[in-house]
Amino acid sequence: VELERLGVHESVSHVFPPAKLATSLVDLSIEVAVIGDDEIDVCDAVVTLEYREAFLDLHWIHSIQAGVDRFPFETLEERGVLLTNSTGIHDRTVGETVAGYLLMFARRLHDHVANQQQRRWDRPEWDAAFTLPGTTACVVGTGTLGRGVAETLGALGIRVTGVRQSTDSVPGFDEMFATDDLLEAVAAADFVIVTVPLTDETRHLFDAEAFAAMRTDAYFVNVARGPVVDEPALIDALEADDLAGAALDVFETEPLPEESPLWEMDDVIISPHCAAYTRDYFRDVGEIVRENVSRLETDDDLTNRVV
Ligand code: NDP
Repeated sequence: VELERLGVHESVSHVFPPAKLATSLVDLSIEVAVIGDDEIDVCDAVVTLEYREAFLDLHWIHSIQAGVDRFPFETLEERGVLLTNSTGIHDRTVGETVAGYLLMFARRLHDHVANQQQRRWDRPEWDAAFTLPGTTACVVGTGTLGRGVAETLGALGIRVTGVRQSTDSVPGFDEMFATDDLLEAVAAADFVIVTVPLTDETRHLFDAEAFAAMRTDAYFVNVARGPVVDEPALIDALEADDLAGAALDVFETEPLPEESPLWEMDDVIISPHCAAYTRDYFRDVGEIVRENVSRLETDDDLTNRVV
């Protein structure tokens, strides 16, 4: 395939400046330019965050996210459009974010930050703070995210179990469960961390039954996609003190609506879908794009191909 012009769609600006990526790819043999919606038709490939119908006339779409649930797989297939994603680059970033949430809960750092806003010198209850070694984290999804989380938490002395579709072992995990045994796996954990893609099978995987299976002193973490969780069921569990707390990076509706009760809950940490942010994001995406431009030139199979 002869690519001539690759557009870096302006929607990537939610994650990094589009020009940073375009500039880092100037040495490619094809033209690379930052484009808006009115310039899609002059490209034959695009790097993007958001989906646009005009992409259906292109040869190749690269998503700067790993999650591609917003793209219409069947239509892309029918139109012969290739889709690749950015899995493989979010291990350390998301791993460190999750480690941060767990340290905040264990060492009560989120309470200190909240108290500081009000100039309040308030120490935690004597039995509120704990340390992480000896606790168990159950990581649901053992791909790039799950492995990065397991590696980072393992280094903090946490025992890490995994849930995946197959039960084949994965480096960094002390024990593996199949999806059918999810309830058993979460019941044994101090922390349950969700790192699965959003699919028909994982939509509302975490419902009232899953939260009821968790220990009442356990914390829930979602860095995957909002709809993997039945959010009203999570809110009910938190309000009933059936869970100790939650750290949430993703939500059923984003931005999280102002009226959501999650904003004001004491043991809930909210981050605005940025668990994987890093100033090196454009470089990490650039490596995948560069590799696939060269594979297209030599008619090889694309890396990270989804459709
Ligand atoms: P991978 O494809 O590398 O890994 C997916 C993992 O999920 C695999 O281990 C797979 O298991 C498992 N899985 C899939 N379906 C099920 C299921 N029904 N039950 C149990 N496990 C299942 O993806 P990544 O790790 O790169 O990304 C995962 C998701 O995380 C993305 O799709 C995206 O939505 C989200 N994400 C969020 C970010 C953020 O900023 N918060 C950043 C990056 C990603 P198996 O191997 O057995 O098939």
